[in-house]
Amino acid sequence: MSSLQELNKDNIELPSPPAIAVRILEAVKQNGSSFVELARIISADPALTAKMLKVANSSFYALPNKVNSIEKALSVLGVDVLKNIALSFVIVKDMRGEDGEGFSFEYFWKKAVTSGVAAELLASLLGRKNDDVFASALLQDIGILMMHLCRPHDYMRVLDEKKAAGTPINEIEKKIFGFDHQEVGAELLQQWGLPEKIYGPIRCHHDGVRDEPLRMQADLLRWSDVLAAVYHGTRSVERIRDLKRELVGRFQIDEEKIDAVVDAVAEKSIEILSSFDIDPGNMKPFSQLLQEANEELRRLNLTYEQLVMEFKQAKEKAERLAGELMEANAKLREMAFRDGLTGLYNHRYFQELLTREMSRAVRYGSTLSLMMFDIDHFKLVNDAYGHPGGDVILRKLAALVQDCMRTSDVVARYGGEEFAVILPMTDSGGCRVFAERLRRKVEQMETNIDGSPVKITVSIGLATYEPGMAATDKSQMVDAADRALYQSKKNGRNRISATALK
Ligand code: GH3
Ligand code: MG
Ligand code: MG
Repeated sequence: MSSLQELNKDNIELPSPPAIAVRILEAVKQNGSSFVELARIISADPALTAKMLKVANSSFYALPNKVNSIEKALSVLGVDVLKNIALSFVIVKDMRGEDGEGFSFEYFWKKAVTSGVAAELLASLLGRKNDDVFASALLQDIGILMMHLCRPHDYMRVLDEKKAAGTPINEIEKKIFGFDHQEVGAELLQQWGLPEKIYGPIRCHHDGVRDEPLRMQADLLRWSDVLAAVYHGTRSVERIRDLKRELVGRFQIDEEKIDAVVDAVAEKSIEILSSFDIDPGNMKPFSQLLQEANEELRRLNLTYEQLVMEFKQAKEKAERLAGELMEANAKLREMAFRDGLTGLYNHRYFQELLTREMSRAVRYGSTLSLMMFDIDHFKLVNDAYGHPGGDVILRKLAALVQDCMRTSDVVARYGGEEFAVILPMTDSGGCRVFAERLRRKVEQMETNIDGSPVKITVSIGLATYEPGMAATDKSQMVDAADRALYQSKKNGRNRISATALK
């Protein structure tokens, strides 16, 4: 039993060859009259005639002059070429069923026509051009169509397994059906009366044969299938690479020539597909596809680098802002503790620091002195030189105090024209020496206000905590120094007094 009979055990009505195809095939069998007869058959079908002329005038054949009649096309292209184009048209037109689930006739014929174009171009490149290669490549998988038509469910299994395992399709067909689409297709076309030059290579296009010229014809079909799959399938790059390797190895042709054919397949197919009323879709030359893919890749890389760069910049900016913020905070904190006019620590900071120093002295049993001083008759200075004049003196006095004290001492502006100096680890003797030095320096200080030399004096009050003393509170220190200062004022100003802690 032939595979076709086997396939059609259920006696489905197999597609018969399109009537016009039968007439064309019969016409060309009768040698001699074939030319006239073929022209008559084709010309009787205006739609077919239009398509034939479109193909004849396409860049595929690149004829020097426009062909505007079937007779002219016949004389230029020859009976066999015209016959094959006509057969291809009528078969493709006749066998376009409804697209079903998982099977698309549109896709099937799109790939088939592309295969035909690819086979023709490859045959030219390899110098093996023949009149049947287009039709043979175009119809190479017609067995698939038949198998799907007769046993759609079984054929879906074939396609599923192919998708899952990637095993060659003819092997899966053999497993499920017992025969493959090569046999079915070849038998069908033989039955239809197509020449052996067309169905012969179809019978073995997957198997590979050893004897020429059949081997070359079968290989052309196989390669054309690869090229068609590049445009209507997946894994393009690997397929092209393998094909190039095989062709370069076997025929020693330049890779560029193969690349040109690969691109030409897309360009010519678009033209030929439209003659077949098949939408070529988004077919583009392979080199263009590659270039677009590379550009996309570059663009992605670029945007990635841009992203990284922007991220880096944002990070740097955030770090810079954080630094500035920290600095600003530190400044703000500092400002909260500083006096605006003199830059010395303010009253609040003085209170905090004295609390800390007092408890430290008590805990570690160390001495601590406090000195408070107040400008004598400062009101008179303000009265004479104005408030701004007074301010100049306050600033100058602040600088002078800072100049003549140790780094461990801290001076603060206690109030208007009253200052306080905390002297850790300093006993009453040491404190008095410092006070005397300060008093003298202030006395010698001369400030120029509006051209007048202005001099001031200060009255100083001292208090010292010695280890073992009963007093442990900073207010007792302030109170004692304040009392001493009052004493200095009372005793005539510009002098130093000390009182004991209560
Ligand atoms: P005494 O010797 O008793 O301390 O006399 P005095 O005039 O210095 O004392 P009083 O308390 O009567 O006056 C203090 C003056 O200090 C009055 C006030 O205007 C001035 N003063 C306080 N703070 C400032 C300031 O920030 N700038 C200026 N220019 N003057 C100030
Ligand atoms: Mg004063
Ligand atoms: Mg005062």
